[in-house]
Amino acid sequence: MSAVAVPSAEHAALVDRLARPLQDLRISVIDRCNFRCPYCMPEERYPRDHAFMAAAQRLKPEEIERLARLFVGLGVRKLRLTGGEPLLRRDLPEIISRLAALPGAPDLALTSNGVLLTRDAAALAAAGLQRITISLDALDPQIFAAMSGGRGRVEDVLGGLRHAAAAGLSPIKINCVVQRGINETEVMPLVEHFRGSGQIVRFIEYMDVGTCNRWQASAVVPSRELLAQIHARYPLEPVDPAYRGEVAERYRFLDGAGEIGFISSVSQPFCGHCTRARVSADGRLYTCLFAREGQDLRALIRGDQGDGAVEAMIEAIWRKRQDRYSEQRQQAQPTREGRVEMYRIGG
Ligand code: SAM
Ligand code: SF4
Ligand code: SF4
Repeated sequence: MSAVAVPSAEHAALVDRLARPLQDLRISVIDRCNFRCPYCMPEERYPRDHAFMAAAQRLKPEEIERLARLFVGLGVRKLRLTGGEPLLRRDLPEIISRLAALPGAPDLALTSNGVLLTRDAAALAAAGLQRITISLDALDPQIFAAMSGGRGRVEDVLGGLRHAAAAGLSPIKINCVVQRGINETEVMPLVEHFRGSGQIVRFIEYMDVGTCNRWQASAVVPSRELLAQIHARYPLEPVDPAYRGEVAERYRFLDGAGEIGFISSVSQPFCGHCTRARVSADGRLYTCLFAREGQDLRALIRGDQGDGAVEAMIEAIWRKRQDRYSEQRQQAQPTREGRVEMYRIGG
């Protein structure tokens, strides 16, 4: 293996067919989950005895490190670990400590449903995790239970969040997927709960990702509707994006109580700035959340291939990339068959 490598001038120019650089990598470390959110992994499709990926199929910590190092060499600046539920991997601290030590010092974050953070937050921070995003769709116990497929308790997520804060993982972001008729009544309670806490709630438009939710456009609550509702009670002003390609539109409360964000993938698609690649737990590379096929990087790294061959494959895939599904959604009548599931590539 060749030694790596902060990005070279040559690699800094790696862009896809729509001139989008490769800057972010989401790494799913496991496809299992302790929740069954109906919009992601509904119980009827994924009963308790469902055959998820075997442990041997998942990339090992050293394989994840090697791939991440190559991606960083190609220009990636941000790494996010996700799942399934990433805390179900008992070797997550090892994965984190390997990534935290990478040359080029990429930003390192994690997305979790939060339940196991009471147990693990301190160990993850000690391993070098910098930031965390916790998914929380409702504060109301009944609505929360329904949205986690009957598997989660909201007080456990709030407990995990407190442990994450105590471990110094900050700023903590809270992701809430809003579905019409399901949890839109939770938007104001979430705003009020987190205002002034230093933690940033982001409301996400419900997406037609994967094949197993019964998505309908009518279930999407457009961000502008939520913005108007929140602004009427707690006046807001826009905040400039922190960097090119930031997916959340940010707003601050005029009274100084902090920030909120909106991720409007359906009503205001941001494909033009999408700089994100995703690797599944079994090492397949996906260039879009709505992709069907992933390219098998694990076969290369478990074969005799040196870093140059793996890098060349990633580079070739990125150069060919022209995905812009969310921008095309409204024109076409897309079939969902064969699309990769969200829990395999982690959002
Ligand atoms: N299990 C972890 C969690 O829930 O945070 C990480 C993986 S989960 C797939 C990542 C994010 O995707 C979560 O914030 C979840 O709410 C979001 N998500 C899943 N399905 C979605 C959908 N259909 N539309 C919008 N967001 C979705
Ligand atoms: Fe699990 Fe996250 Fe999917 Fe919910 S959204 S089922 S917590 S992977
Ligand atoms: Fe990126 Fe695909 Fe989402 Fe567009 S639809 S923002 S290309 S992941």
